[in-house]
Amino acid sequence: MSLYNTLRRGAFLTEGDPHPVRYFAEEVCSPFVLVSDHAGRAVPSALGRLGIPEAEHERHIAYDIGIQGVGRRLRPALGAALIEQCYSRLVIDCNRSPGHPTSVPPVSDGTQIPANQALSEHERRVREDAILHPYHAVITAELDARTERPTALIALHSFTPVMQGVRRPWHAGVLFNRDSRLSHIVAGLLRAEGLCVGENEPYVLTDTSDYTVPLHAEARGLPYLEIEIRQDLIADEGGQIEWAERLARLLPQAWRALSI
Ligand SMILES: [Zn+2]
Repeated sequence: MSLYNTLRRGAFLTEGDPHPVRYFAEEVCSPFVLVSDHAGRAVPSALGRLGIPEAEHERHIAYDIGIQGVGRRLRPALGAALIEQCYSRLVIDCNRSPGHPTSVPPVSDGTQIPANQALSEHERRVREDAILHPYHAVITAELDARTERPTALIALHSFTPVMQGVRRPWHAGVLFNRDSRLSHIVAGLLRAEGLCVGENEPYVLTDTSDYTVPLHAEARGLPYLEIEIRQDLIADEGGQIEWAERLARLLPQAWRALSI
């Protein structure tokens, strides 16, 4: 039996481990609720370092490089609520439904994750209960408290410039499924600034590939934006400030355009 099998449910996160959710309350009356599924890269002490070299924890496979810095600057600029996941998506991916094949990835962009091999049902549920469900419960509570107010969910992500050897040309992408309204508006505003913008690039948003937007926005009929920013553009503070300022300027414009 592996070390991970010996863990009891509820004893997974210890006192030294961070709370899975970082919640920043709204500061002004804003239509936006910001969520950041892949902001963090913490690993519960019970999992050691997942059996991978430290350098792998610096890579895009562990988290969305740069997006926490964008979100933390965008939030006060908008006065909006921000909900961040603190744990690495290599522990459990909070933008995947429970039990999804890549929810607890056994391999990511060519890197085998020893702590994620042949997980039992119990081991998987321990991670869901400790990390995935508390995060989505906070988003649910935030949206439940706003049912009488116009609301748009803004899901913040970043993508690696090179995936499996292929270089990606877009500065940013907007991802959508059934409701593309806000995506198209924001894509147009970004293009007006001379940026190369993908639509459902570099990823396609579907009910099965994603979890946060289908669960919290589409199921409630809320408009949403899932934006992916290329990581080399926001790897340093200057780029994070630039993109936070850009989104703080464009999101209210997009919201007004949506409301017309
Ligand atoms: Zn992401």
